[in-house]
Amino acid sequence: ERLADDYDALRREREAHLGPIWHFYNKPLHITRAAGAWMYAADGTAYLDVYNNVPQIGHCHPHVAKAIYRQASALNTNTRYMCDVAVEYAARLTADLPGHLDTCIFVNSGSEANDLAMQIAMSLSRHDGGLIIDQAYHGCTEFTTALSNESWRHLPAEEHPKRIETLMAPDMYRGPFASDPQAAAKYAADADRAIATLSERGHRPAAFMVDTALCSSGVLRAPENYFNLVAEKVRSAGGFVIADEVQAGCGRMGTFWGFRANGLKDDNVDFITMGKPVGNGHPLGVVILSSALMKRFLNGTYPLLFSTFGGNTVACAAGMAVLDIIERESLVRRSAETGEYLRHELRRLAERYEIIGDIRGRGMMTGVELVTDRLTKEPAIQQTGRLVEDMLARNILVGKGTPNTLKLRPPLIWSGNEVDIFVSAFEGSLGSQQ
Ligand code: PMP
Repeated sequence: ERLADDYDALRREREAHLGPIWHFYNKPLHITRAAGAWMYAADGTAYLDVYNNVPQIGHCHPHVAKAIYRQASALNTNTRYMCDVAVEYAARLTADLPGHLDTCIFVNSGSEANDLAMQIAMSLSRHDGGLIIDQAYHGCTEFTTALSNESWRHLPAEEHPKRIETLMAPDMYRGPFASDPQAAAKYAADADRAIATLSERGHRPAAFMVDTALCSSGVLRAPENYFNLVAEKVRSAGGFVIADEVQAGCGRMGTFWGFRANGLKDDNVDFITMGKPVGNGHPLGVVILSSALMKRFLNGTYPLLFSTFGGNTVACAAGMAVLDIIERESLVRRSAETGEYLRHELRRLAERYEIIGDIRGRGMMTGVELVTDRLTKEPAIQQTGRLVEDMLARNILVGKGTPNTLKLRPPLIWSGNEVDIFVSAFEGSLGSQQ
């Protein structure tokens, strides 16, 4: 509070105490409060949050806040004890999944969930390699950083992790098979190459880890059946399939499980990992797998699997409260409908603004790719950067997926009204760029 009125002093002290941490605006925002679809700065300005994919049911949802308070006041402990809340939560979360996805391991973040899923996959397959899609991001631990070529693709090839191989992104806008009717099979064939390349380096795939929303690759929309074709190749090579639902899950794509929206069949999924929206901001990560695989893992290399805070009663109460709201307010259906309306309105703008090269997505996950020329598809990198700043000046927070793709991931509680506010500001911003 001492610093609340003095932006420059807070910025200096932030750098001094937290280091030069990442932010994407020229001048980072000083946010002091948030509610629903809006975030509020210290000076009272309200910003429409189109960026955050964590507060899925809206910022600071009172039902979640109350559940956290109530549980923290009654019992805040870990899974070493038998506690109703963790058991009930795991049962609810997996209720509509098939029998081979019936068991939850709770952790504290998406990175931790992915790291653990990969450890289990390695232990059970006795392979040590990983397959990912170009520009993937799966986390910040040592292994999940290796599984995130978004984090190392700029490095010289000899510094790339040797046991990871990257599949060409199934890009249906600018990729080599974009207008090929056989695109799914042709893109998926890159998995054969990747598996062979790993093998030449002495590794075999323990798992293919995939965010089926292809969020960090630019919210790409893979051709139908692509993910199943890759999954089948990986499994034939003895690897598992890990659906990373950190971005795509919890209703974001118009179905509760994102992999279903994106056409990956339940039978082709061995592990699901969750993070970000599952606690609506409260730290919570989940690995979902079959009880049989978990037993094999525990009987093998790792009998003492335990996370102190993973699955603590307060995190589970928060997760359960998120499910309550998603169900009560039919947010999955709403995500599908509002997302369609948003893309419809964006397509209307695309008729007038040549800079819009492609609009894609499902539910409340939308990518807008900007180009300087629709024929050459030259990426409009500088313009995209300017648009993000210009939208900020119009009190709208949007982020970039790739240097020339806007990534729109608003809370699922949006109605047509928020879409209209956003689209009208976006139109103003596009107009000011011409
Ligand atoms: N997987 C995906 C697809 C993500 O987008 C992220 C975070 N951006 C992670 C994993 C890592 O999650 P966390 O930051 O909670 O560790």
